[in-house]
Amino acid sequence: MPENPRLQLLQMLDGRAHSHLVVNEIFLSIQGESTHAGRPCVFVRTAACNLRCSYCDTAYAFHEGRAMDLNEVLSQVLALETRLVELTGGEPLLQPAAPELCRRLLAAGREVLVETSGSVDISVVPQGAHVILDVKTPGSGEEAANDYGNLARLRPGDEVKFVLVSRADYEWARDLVRQRELHRHTTVLFSPAFRLVAPVDLARWINDDRLPVRLNLQLHKYIWPPHQRGV
Ligand code: SF4
Repeated sequence: MPENPRLQLLQMLDGRAHSHLVVNEIFLSIQGESTHAGRPCVFVRTAACNLRCSYCDTAYAFHEGRAMDLNEVLSQVLALETRLVELTGGEPLLQPAAPELCRRLLAAGREVLVETSGSVDISVVPQGAHVILDVKTPGSGEEAANDYGNLARLRPGDEVKFVLVSRADYEWARDLVRQRELHRHTTVLFSPAFRLVAPVDLARWINDDRLPVRLNLQLHKYIWPPHQRGV
C-alpha cells in the first residue's frame, strides 16, 4: 500500500474535491478489454492509486496529474465525439467527484464504464454507468485489498475481471468463480497478464475446465507497442 493516496489527492484538490478531478490523461483509443473490446472509446485516466499490483502498467498515473474542473473534463471528452467513455486510473473511485462526472456523461448521452480495482465500495457509481470490477489475485500482490462485498453490489451490465499471472492464479480465480457462481450473475473475464501467461495456455485451461468465462485479451497491447501511453 502506498503512502496515503487519499491524502495526496486531497492536497492536490485543495478544497475542490467535489468540483475537480485529478486527471492524468484524456485520450481517444480502442477499448481493449471487457465485452466492449474493439469499440472506439474515450478514456479519462485519473491519478493516484491505493494499490501497487505486481503487473501494473500505469504506474505513471500514481503521481502525475493535474486538478481539472469537471466542466473542463466534460468538454474535452465531448469534443472527442465518441459514444463510449471509460473512467479508469489509477483508481478512479478514490476521487470524490468521479460519480458526478459519471452522472454528467450519462446526461450527455454517453455510455459510461468505470474500471476499478475492487478495493473501493462500488455503490457510489451511479445507476446507468457500468462497473468493470477487478478482483485482485494472489499473484497481483494485492489480494488482501479486495472488498468482496462488491461482488454483491454488481448490477446488470457490470463485469468482473481477473488478471492472471500464473496457473496458480488461474486456479484461485476458477475456484472463486465456482464457489460464488459468479458466471450466473455477471460476465466474468479472465485476462492473461501480458507476457506472463500465454493466451494459448489460458484458452486451454478454460476449455479443459469447461469454465463459463470469457478470455479477455488486452487488445490495445496487440494494436500498439505494449508500453505506449495514451492508447
Ligand atoms: S489497481 Fe490498477 S492502477 Fe492501481 S496498481 Fe493495480 S493495476 Fe495499477
